[in-house]
Order: sequence, then C-alpha cells, then structure tokens
Amino acid sequence: MKAILTDITKCIGCNECVKACTETNGLGEERAYRWRADDGLSSERYTSVLRKKGFHVRKQCRHCLEPACVSACPVGALKKTPEGAVIYDDSRCLGCRYCMMACPFGIPRYLWSSPVPYVRKCTMCYTTRLTRGQQPACTEACPVEATIFGERDALLSEARRRISDNPRLYLPKVFGEHEVGGTAVLYLSPIELDFLSLGNRLDERPMPERTMLAMAVVPPVFLGMGALMGGIYWVIERRRRLQKEKPAEKADNSDGSSDK
Ligand code: SF4
Ligand code: SF4
Ligand code: SF4
Repeated sequence: MKAILTDITKCIGCNECVKACTETNGLGEERAYRWRADDGLSSERYTSVLRKKGFHVRKQCRHCLEPACVSACPVGALKKTPEGAVIYDDSRCLGCRYCMMACPFGIPRYLWSSPVPYVRKCTMCYTTRLTRGQQPACTEACPVEATIFGERDALLSEARRRISDNPRLYLPKVFGEHEVGGTAVLYLSPIELDFLSLGNRLDERPMPERTMLAMAVVPPVFLGMGALMGGIYWVIERRRRLQKEKPAEKADNSDGSSDK
C-alpha cells in the first residue's frame, strides 16, 4: 500500500507542495467564506501548511486504512482503493455531507461556490498521477524531501530509523501508524499533532466502528431522511439512465425492426 511520510522537522514552509497540488488538480481561487475553518483547507485547497510552535505542518487527507468517510457515505461515493488512496466519485454524491461529519480530521470540504455542490478533498492524486505510475504532485515538488511518497511499510521503517538515530529530535511514535486503525499519511514530529484532528487525541480504534455506534443513536427521523435521499438518488439515476437509453431505442426503431 502506498503512503506519504511528512517529517515536520524538515519542512521549511515554502508552500511548493500547496502550489503543485493546486496546479495538478486545476484548483481555483480561494474564497473567504465567513464559516471557513482557519486550517487553510477549502474546496480549492486540498493541502495547506500550518505554523505551530515554530514548526511548519502540512495538512491533507490522511487516507485512513479504515476511513470513516467511506463508511458514512450512504451511496458509496467515497472509496478506499487497493493502492491506499481514498477517492471520491461526484456522479454518485448526494450532497448529504455525512462524510464531512464523520471524518475525525475534519478534511472534506463543500464546494459552496457551485450551484451543484460537491465534496472536495485530497485524492492522493489518484487519477491524475498514481494510476499513471507517478508519485503525488506535492511529494514530487517538495525541495527538501520533507514530505515523501512510497510503500507504507518502507516509510514506517524509514520513520522508525529516523527516530532511533535522533531520539531527542522526535516524539517516540510515528503519527498515523495506529490511530483510528492507521492512516496512509504518516508524520514524524517533535510536537503533538492533536490540532490536525480538531484537538482530539485519537485512539487506535477504527472510526467506522464508532460511526456505527453513533448511527445507532441517531433519531429515526434522520435515518428516514437518509433513506429518503437514497430513494431520490435512485429515481434520479434511473431517469438519467433511461434518458441515455432513449436515443439508442429510437435508432433501433427507425431501422424498421420495431414491432409496431
Ligand atoms: S482523513 Fe477523513 S476524509 Fe480522509 S480518508 Fe480519513 S476519514 Fe476520509
Ligand atoms: S496527494 Fe495530490 S491531491 Fe493530495 S495534497 Fe498532494 S498533490 Fe494534492
Ligand atoms: S514543499 Fe516541502 S518544505 Fe515546502 S512547505 Fe511543502 S512540505 Fe514543507
């Protein structure tokens, strides 16, 4: 499984990763919404570099091994790929934003500027680069290899080697190795990174388990709403499919093969 390792002791805050991500994903100008979180992420920014306790810390989707966003989505618009990336299919998305509520890192953002809003987040450059045998744009762009790409096992070994070579520099753990069941974006850091998970210290239990528990106490009216949205989605999809099939039917009928 592929992964990204970010060593915040190496990051110089140049923002080349952010620039490369913006260009590769064709992202537009940022908009200053009143309700926008101050972590630099938005529907137009899939990664950001935060300043904390004298360090630069890159934020992006963690590509969880057991992603809460995937388990919360009622129509399968989010998917964990075998390569490790968690990707999103906007043709399936209902716009319910359950994924945004479920994510323990507060990553997915809503495309408020669009009349048909979708959810946006880092996809590990899955279609633009990964499936073409290339590494993500952000890791390639980093001039000091503060953020690197590779096999998750190899990056974990590299991270452990750095900690053992320099135990006074790092906290003695690889962030993302175990939290919420493990993530494909790992960090080495001399400071706690709770601010990346909305101030919560996360334990090792995968989030989907908790999502299920949370769903168990959701009032039936909300579950009914989910079912209703699922029904509406099914009707829309069916209508779209039928519309697509119509021209083909007309062509069949015009060659005289019709029964009528
Ligand atoms: S960090 Fe959030 S959006 Fe990214 S895979 Fe995990 S649950 Fe999904
Ligand atoms: S992996 Fe790709 S989409 Fe994700 S932050 Fe890096 S450049 Fe952006
Ligand atoms: S490109 Fe590398 S050094 Fe520059 S901000 Fe991004 S992670 Fe840090």
